[in-house]
Amino acid sequence: MIRLNDIKNTLSFPSEETSLGSGLSSYLPQGDIPCPPRALLTVFSIIQSDHSITLLSPHSITDFEMYPLPWQALTIVATEIIVKSPSFNRGGNPMHEYDALIVGAGGAGLYAALEASKAGKTAVLSKLFPIRSHTGAAQGGIGAALGNLEEDKPEWHAFDTVKGGDYLTDQNAAILLAEDAIQAVYELENKGLPFSRTPDGLIDQRRFGGHTRNFGEAPVRRACYAADRTGHMILQTLYQQCIKNNVTFFDEYYLLDVIIEGQRCRGLVTIKLSTGEILTFKAKAVLFATGGFGRMFRITSNAYANTGDGQALLVNRGVPLEDLEFYQFHPTGIRGLGILITEGVRGEGGILRNAKGERFMERYAPTLLDLAPRDMIARAIHSEIREFRGIKGDGSVDDFIHLDATHLGKEKIETKLPDIAEFSRTYLGVDPADEPMSVHPTAHYAMGGIPTDLDGRVIFDSQGTTYQGLYAAGECACVSVHGANRLGTNSLVELIVYGRRAGQHMAQYVKGADLGTVSPDVGEPSQARLAELRSHGNGPNPESLRQKMQRVMMENVGIYRNGENMAKAITALREMRQVYTQIRANDPSKAFNTQVLEVLELGHLLDLAYMVTACALNRQESRGAHAREDYPERDDQNWLKHTLAWLEGEKIRLDYKNVEISRWAPKPRKY
Ligand SMILES: Cc1cc2nc3c(=O)[nH]c(=O)nc-3n(C[C@H](O)[C@H](O)[C@H](O)COP(=O)(O)OP(=O)(O)OC[C@H]3O[C@@H](n4cnc5c(N)ncnc54)[C@H](O)[C@@H]3O)c2cc1C
Repeated sequence: MIRLNDIKNTLSFPSEETSLGSGLSSYLPQGDIPCPPRALLTVFSIIQSDHSITLLSPHSITDFEMYPLPWQALTIVATEIIVKSPSFNRGGNPMHEYDALIVGAGGAGLYAALEASKAGKTAVLSKLFPIRSHTGAAQGGIGAALGNLEEDKPEWHAFDTVKGGDYLTDQNAAILLAEDAIQAVYELENKGLPFSRTPDGLIDQRRFGGHTRNFGEAPVRRACYAADRTGHMILQTLYQQCIKNNVTFFDEYYLLDVIIEGQRCRGLVTIKLSTGEILTFKAKAVLFATGGFGRMFRITSNAYANTGDGQALLVNRGVPLEDLEFYQFHPTGIRGLGILITEGVRGEGGILRNAKGERFMERYAPTLLDLAPRDMIARAIHSEIREFRGIKGDGSVDDFIHLDATHLGKEKIETKLPDIAEFSRTYLGVDPADEPMSVHPTAHYAMGGIPTDLDGRVIFDSQGTTYQGLYAAGECACVSVHGANRLGTNSLVELIVYGRRAGQHMAQYVKGADLGTVSPDVGEPSQARLAELRSHGNGPNPESLRQKMQRVMMENVGIYRNGENMAKAITALREMRQVYTQIRANDPSKAFNTQVLEVLELGHLLDLAYMVTACALNRQESRGAHAREDYPERDDQNWLKHTLAWLEGEKIRLDYKNVEISRWAPKPRKY
């Protein structure tokens, strides 16, 4: 056994990495170690106390940091030691190098990583452990015109997507989505996803909002599902595939900054949450798959982690965002909490009823009834409540209606909707087989986001010019496939279809691209920002600021909007962004400093809330999820165009991009 003590004087810390042979036993520090500030000691295998050897899987190889001194006793025992002296930033920050780098381990990020890993060294970094990503919460299904139970066609799926998006959907994107969805679902099946089955073994399919046969004639069974745990199954399947294909994971790393030089992305600056250390990643190509930003609203179905970090960080590097004014409220969140009750309940036959027991959707969407698109049902519920037909009947914002599934029977509910049944028992104290569930609309999904082309490349102007080596996919992106209102099940399809396309494009791109150079002090602004946040001081309370933002957004930029309220919201948000600059975290610690994290996330939400409101105030029409009381009609003459928005300090610069309308001319939207 060689003791580190014995070999320390031979360490030369070369530019790449050196194997120091085997046999490190325990080490007690004595004197200075001649190493750079933070070399990495990588341990590939460990000898246990019973002398058996444990080889570490690539995933759990451990990096121990070697600090200059004083060292603490190192008690691990290893059979092979490689000391890396990676590129160092001036601040002493190690710099990792990858061909393809993915931020976000939801469905979009994992599928892209799987494809990119076929061509080069690929890593995924995520602030959450991958399978805790929000995709895991998706319940109802993934849409594809398999036609397993009744006739269906990709063309009908594409048309429903365009009409559902109130004709703001780019039609080439919708056609591609619907055509590729079929193969994408079969690929998931082949990768091991346990779909629910028909008695003869086919993937089962159920109805969902806005999914129709023959261009709107009647509902069709298009949603493939795994009980009400579809997203959970997608995540598990893709994560296992990524591990199998040697994708490297950096779990609980938080993205702080993106390195863009000119029109080229070079890498990322991150913080390792367990230590507070700043780490820089250099990459040929970077993909953002950081999810949505529902936490800017008071009542939401979104997890605490959905704070729009990716969108906000890119905006701060001069990247525009597209169609932010379109934010979807899902009709059925649990009363008071917003936790989602999937549309799958209505897909299985659930009915919405007001205080009089009326099936009120008969008045609003006589053909599709409770399976009309979400924007229409959310508005219908709001109208019922405002006209005192809510269950409480007082017309207040906290009123609600009933989702009745009692006629479905206990067996169907427990087999096809087991999680929903459990949520209802836990949060409402009601068994849905016996009593209706109390629900109201909940902030759910961002149709807008980082603008991309059909290959996931990020766009930076109204002509559709793209950055080099910068990609986005999933909810944080806007490939313009959902237009002004997303249909249920089309997000999971989007993750798979467009996540895969982006990953495939990255794989091609990295073959011909170089890593380039990254300035050694690139992490310094992030370091300075963190130091400022951790410095003591009696700043404003971030929690009350967050609650204020959520209230302002819910009340003024929710289901119904008008110019006067949104102008007030803009003023309030401008003030809140000022107050935000004074906020400090009281906790100076580095390891798992969740307070610093929450402050950073609040800043992202405030920037995005400001932009959402400005874009909504600017669009003087009603379309899809953007319903203005002062401009109640859709105005194709002036507004059949995508918004692009840049945040420049307090100012928001706007421009517009054409909608791709190659197949179906816009028509009034009736269901
Ligand atoms: C309750 C619920 C049910 C739904 N049901 C359905 C459904 O049935 N069908 C359907 O089509 N759609 C559904 N949706 C929508 C759909 O689930 C989401 O839009 C989709 O899963 C988003 O996937 P994503 O890959 O884009 O992001 P996410 O799954 O949200 O993943 C984001 C990733 O980014 C990482 N990240 C974020 N910020 C940072 C940062 N600063 N640093 C590092 N990492 C970061 C996170 O750790 C995470 O890994 C549902 C949504 C909700 C809320």
